[in-house]
Amino acid sequence: MWTEKKDSIPEKGDQSYLRSRNTARILETLRQNENFSRQDLAEQTNLDKKTVLNIVNGLLEKGMIHITSRQADGAGRPKEILDINGNYGRYAGIDLGGTHLSGVLVDFSGKQIVSGNIEVHNGMEPDTLMKLCAYLMGNLLKDAGLKEYDLSGIGISFPGFVASSLGSVTSENFPKWQNIPIQGMFQERYNVPICVDDSSRLMALAELWFGKGRGCRDFIVADLGFGIGCGIVIDRKIFRGSAGKSGEVGHTIVDVNGPPCTCGSRGCIESFAAGWALSRDAQVVMKEHPDSLLWETSGGSPEGVNFRQVILAANLGDSCCAGLLRYAGTYIGIGLSNTISFFNPSRLIIGGRLIQDNEILLKAVTETINSNCMKQILDDVEITVSELGGGASAWGAGISCILNTENSYFAAIQNGQNGARKTLVLA
Ligand SMILES: [Zn+2]
Repeated sequence: MWTEKKDSIPEKGDQSYLRSRNTARILETLRQNENFSRQDLAEQTNLDKKTVLNIVNGLLEKGMIHITSRQADGAGRPKEILDINGNYGRYAGIDLGGTHLSGVLVDFSGKQIVSGNIEVHNGMEPDTLMKLCAYLMGNLLKDAGLKEYDLSGIGISFPGFVASSLGSVTSENFPKWQNIPIQGMFQERYNVPICVDDSSRLMALAELWFGKGRGCRDFIVADLGFGIGCGIVIDRKIFRGSAGKSGEVGHTIVDVNGPPCTCGSRGCIESFAAGWALSRDAQVVMKEHPDSLLWETSGGSPEGVNFRQVILAANLGDSCCAGLLRYAGTYIGIGLSNTISFFNPSRLIIGGRLIQDNEILLKAVTETINSNCMKQILDDVEITVSELGGGASAWGAGISCILNTENSYFAAIQNGQNGARKTLVLA
């Protein structure tokens, strides 16, 4: 599990600590910029040339970065262009969603090699979940032409609370997902480091590295799906809260007399607008409107109707379903207006499975924000829609493994070790 151990950070004057921090800056700078030489790194990071030279040499020696080309620069020696070495590691990211399993394989640069998705029933038994994860993982590895032993880590994205110390997870939305020792279950099956984190935070991580969060210091990612959460980025770092439970915007209450919520309260935004609330309301629509297109898109089963089927029916012209999506979008918009007022971000990125092919809901969300948020604060925020699709949290889970590998290297530097490992070279 990836957690920064505050009590292990030495005094700031400690040279090995400074070196590990500067190494992190150089890796981050190379990830954010293309075609950078040592000179460019020194200018961008404000580190002196000797420090950059030493750190770059160390990273080249470890194989974490490599020289991609040499550019002639006048009469002097050609400039060596540096980049992250993707071949340094291969990582899997698996998103355990309420109604899906998504997976990606990424290289050490974070770029996706392959991706996959399986639609599943709501919150299945943990043992079945593990079987499906193994099946998905097998397919991903096969598609990428890799074997299990090629993996250097697995990241798990979970829609709920993660108890870091125990590696167990709990979701209030699924009765069968209580205190599941997910880290141990994966550790037993795969002999690599396992990182577990909340799906909204991992979505924010994917946006930070590859989405609309690139180049943005402070932003919020709204994760709209079976549940509703948000990822918070402050100064390009994921904000976790005091105990890793930040971002529960879906459980902020907007009507004390509202519908019961899975958390035990009433009138939370989720109780009006989450994917599970849409399923609940869709059942009523089906019973009251036997002519609704929802009967067709759901296969004639009110008990099993899900939000994807509601979106499809709405897009086919079902006015009741369109009304449900507008109603949900309004409540989400209220929640996000409150979040913007509270946080004053420079950007709000709206993502998650609930917005895929769902212009009706998105329009209601943005209109509600624009008409409810305080103008002085609204002027500061750019509202934008994620382009990463439904696999963003899985991607973030893969990226979390890369950060875990980097952190191990930084810890090795701080402990006076070289942190060396063999470079993985694939045919
Ligand atoms: Zn709630």
